[in-house]
Amino acid sequence: MSPEEFAKSYPPLVAWIRNTLTASAPVAQTVASRGFWRLPLYFTEKTLASTKVVLVDPLPIPPLASMGLARFADFVRGNFAGITYIDTIFLKPTQSNNENVHFHALVHVIQWRLLGPDRFLLSYANGLECFGYRQSPLEAMAYDAESAFASSTATFNVEKMVVEKLGL
Ligand SMILES: [Zn+2]
Repeated sequence: MSPEEFAKSYPPLVAWIRNTLTASAPVAQTVASRGFWRLPLYFTEKTLASTKVVLVDPLPIPPLASMGLARFADFVRGNFAGITYIDTIFLKPTQSNNENVHFHALVHVIQWRLLGPDRFLLSYANGLECFGYRQSPLEAMAYDAESAFASSTATFNVEKMVVEKLGL
């Protein structure tokens, strides 16, 4: 994605995201309040208290075509368990007790926080375009960490891992 194209689509996209977060705030719960017992071994108390979860179906997906991002339409048609915007995780109600899915989404929350919305969205879009959804670097990082979480009880510091993998 060219810097010009990104500069044009970023303002409506981030405005849509902020409106979506404001609209969902009344029904958002904190991850901390959801009572998962393994997540506190991997994330700080502060992260779990500041990250919100909204259970909703269908998931809110930005109208990318009207933002000049029509070629990401395949992504809009994708069938996801959840999607993360800034500090809020939107999940289908069927995932409400799925700790692995929460773990995956929390990796994205850390990515959003460390990169900031502009760099997160640019990297995410470039990753989708160059590698496809599953192999895009920000997704691959979340899926790899999720599979480590799901397959072993060995704890690791996720925030530190994301910093290292992003090369920050
Ligand atoms: Zn993901």
